[in-house]
Parts: sequence; structure tokens; C-alpha cells
Amino acid sequence: MALSDSLLLPDTALRVLSVLDDAGYEAWAVGGFVRDALLGRACSDIDIACSAPWQETQRVCELAGMRTHETGTQHGTLTVVCDDEAFEVTTFRTDGAYKDSRHPESVQFVKTIEEDLARRDFTMNALAYRPDRGVLDPFGGQADMEAGVIRAVGDPHKRFEEDALRILRACRFSSELGYSIDPATFQGMLANKGLLSRISAERVTHELQRLLLGEHAGDALLRCVDVLAAVLPELVAMKGFDQHTPYHVFDVLEHTARVVDGVPRYPLVRWAALFHDMGKPACFFFDENGIGHFYGHAAVSVPIARGIMQRLTFSNAFMDKVLTLVKRHDDVVPANPKAVKRMLARLGGDTELFAALCDLKRGDARGQSPQFSGDRIALANELQGVLNEIMEANEAFTMKSLAISGRDVMKLGVPQGPLVGEMLHRVLDAVIDEELPNSHDDQVKYVASCIEDENFSKKFSKRVDEKGYGA
Ligand code: ATP
Ligand code: MG
Repeated sequence: MALSDSLLLPDTALRVLSVLDDAGYEAWAVGGFVRDALLGRACSDIDIACSAPWQETQRVCELAGMRTHETGTQHGTLTVVCDDEAFEVTTFRTDGAYKDSRHPESVQFVKTIEEDLARRDFTMNALAYRPDRGVLDPFGGQADMEAGVIRAVGDPHKRFEEDALRILRACRFSSELGYSIDPATFQGMLANKGLLSRISAERVTHELQRLLLGEHAGDALLRCVDVLAAVLPELVAMKGFDQHTPYHVFDVLEHTARVVDGVPRYPLVRWAALFHDMGKPACFFFDENGIGHFYGHAAVSVPIARGIMQRLTFSNAFMDKVLTLVKRHDDVVPANPKAVKRMLARLGGDTELFAALCDLKRGDARGQSPQFSGDRIALANELQGVLNEIMEANEAFTMKSLAISGRDVMKLGVPQGPLVGEMLHRVLDAVIDEELPNSHDDQVKYVASCIEDENFSKKFSKRVDEKGYGA
């Protein structure tokens, strides 16, 4: 693709560069900013590399009225704030020997920007720019970007051995930019993937999530599966696993990759898409006619997904939501208000989670044989429509939204304890089934009649006994 030929630095960044230049130092915008600007992509932060030691950067910038923060001075990094915009200004440096596949034991400051660029991970990230000199590109980063290739700077083996996080960064960039990976670079990633076990779970999670949220996540998963296997060994069983069913034209991994691409780009549903069919290889069997089935696979995917999410670092609240989607992804929900409200009640009344389930079902259908996907996409759209109507009409689908409360139920004579919840469930079921309006008076009468009705009370106490609540 053609690269942009005008790089525009914001005024604030230009001021920082010129303040340093005027003091006799050499400063450049570097790395991700230059890459993204050439690609015409928005970039969140602008990093600056400078010949000045950080103490000099501090002195010069503060004299010019800018604030500074000593955020990483042991590595030569100072944060400079100009009109509320923050820039990390780092002294030209190279990394010393690496001790743990991630952290250099020391950094050495160097004289030239070229030496600084040589320590960077990929050719497209080893770029520098300043308005008077244009783009500095000593490793052919622009040609690689035009060809859509990720290439390590220098010897790939050495570079990934120094810092294994670069392996995941390559996979993530491949997803974000849709680039292929140069074969020698990929070989270096494969040969060093075992070192990923030394990278902290937080960093692995961060890169994997960015990969999943990328515009080309599906392609990146397929392209990088043999590398990603070192952090997600669960992918191995999915790769090449033929489904032997008319519903599917892809193996489990390729189907999963298409579902990931087929759901919107937000973390909850992208993670659920990655996990949803992980139980399939374990559940697979052939029937008498040679057709493959996977009964119960959603439930088997749940513990596999839980294991991954516990290894990575997720909050319990987020994990619970992802696992609920995985568990429910194949549930049959007809597109009518009763069925939708029943599912909503199962989801604890979480309408966003229900909307995510619709997204997942739609994406799942997109990854299936085109012969069957149309109807399933239509069904997911209808489900979303019914959900919207229920929300607009403010209808009850949680115990909280009932007109009657636990306190009311107790006032009517139900003893405090689990029986109160049982009674509220009864009321909710009746409301969802449209046998009872969501009005206080009607529900008081309904509860009173349940208590009075001998048959019902017997059934009621029997159910309670079965659950072990009874006397
Ligand atoms: P993004 O900001 O989209 O994550 P980025 O390339 O800007 O991408 P940063 O983490 O902001 O990534 O790093 C800024 C620059 O620092 C990179 O462009 C690259 O030149 C260099 N860099 C970052 N991480 C590494 C690494 N692990 N090894 C070598 N160079 C790196
Ligand atoms: Mg960046």
C-alpha cells in the first residue's frame, strides 16, 4: 500500500523538538508514531528520542516553561508535558545484555539516532522523523510496510532471544495491520517461543487482547497459531480438526478464526469467540452415517476457557461473563418475548450480556457453512430485536424489577429464608409467561393464593425439600 507522504506533528511536539534543538541537541519523533503516521493511522502517543541526557532535557524543557516527570530515568526516559500533552523523551540508547528474555541488564547511551534505531524490534518501528530531515529509515521499514511485511531488525534469533515479548508483538502487529511475517523472522519466533514462559501473564494478556481486537485477528490467529501455542496450548487440538459435518466447511481453528472476525471488536465477545468451541475436539464422535457431532461441547469449553483465563490475568467479573457466553453460545432461544425474558433471567438480567450473546451467535453463524448461516444470522438479529423491544417496554425479567419485593412476600406470611426467593421465582416465572401482570396488587393476590392453595403449598414444600432446604 502507498504510504502517506506528509507527516504532521502536532504543535506541542514540534515545540519540544525545537526547544531541544535550540539548546544544541538533536531530537526526533520515533517508533510507533512515525509508523502510524505513514500509514495514516491515529496514534495515541508520540515518543521522542534525543541526544541530550535526561537531566539536560529536564533543564532545557523546564526553562521553556514545560513540566517534567522522572518516569524512567534509569533508562534515560523523562516525561515532558507541553500544554497538557505528555511526551516520553528518551536519550539515544542501546540495550545492554538481556538477563531474562525481557529486561536488559543495563542500557548504554549512544551518540547517534541510527544506533538507537538499531535496538528497536521491527523495521517498521525503527523509523525516526523530524520536519527538516524527513523520515530516517536505515532498515528499509517503509519498503516492508509497502509490502505488508513484519521483519525483525538484525538477526531474528538474537532479537527474540533477548526479549521474547517481541514474539507476541509481531503476532499482534500482524493482526492490527494485516501484515505477513517475513519467513526468517517467523523462524526466529518459532525457535524462541519457549521463552514466552518467562514473560509475565499481564504482558501476555495485553498482547493477546490487542491481537484479538485487531482488524485482521482471524488471519493472525491462523498465521501465528504455531507460535501462539506456547501461550495458548489449547489451540493445538483445534488446528486441522475436521468437523465432518455438513454444517461446517472449516476445521475448528479456522471456524474459530472466522467467528472472532465475525463478532464486533470488543473484548468480552472476542474472548468468548476464541473459546467457544475449544471443547469440540474432546466431544467429537462419528455417528453411524459417518457424520461428526459434538454434543455438550459448550459445557466442555467452559473449564478449558476458565483454565486459560486463570492463567492469564482477568478479573473474576469479566471471566464470569465470558464463561457465561461460552456456556450459552449454542442454547436454542426462539425469538419471542417469553423465551428471551427467560434467557435474560438466566443471565441475571444483564441486557448487555444478552446483546453480546446475540453478537456471538451472529458471528458463530458467519463462520459456518454458508448453506446454513443465513437463517441463523437472521435468528440472532431477531433475538436482538426482541431484546430491544423488551428493554423499551421496560418489562420485568429480574426479581429486582418485580412490583413485589421479598419484604412483601414475608409480610404475607412466607417465613424469612430460601422460601422467599422460591416465591419470587414463581412470581417472576408467571410474569415472564405473561400469566401475571407486573403490578403490586396482582402479585400480592397471586402470592396469597399460592400460600392458600394446598396443592401448591405441598408441591412448594416438596421442591424445597428436594433442594435440602426443608426441615
Ligand atoms: P503501540 O503504541 O501501538 O503499542 P508501538 O510500536 O508504538 O506500538 P510502544 O510499546 O509504544 O509500541 O513502543 C514504542 C517503540 O519502542 C516501538 O515502536 C519500538 O520502536 C520500540 N519498542 C517497543 N517495545 C520494544 C521491544 N520489546 N523491543 C524493541 N523495541 C521495542
Ligand atoms: Mg506507542
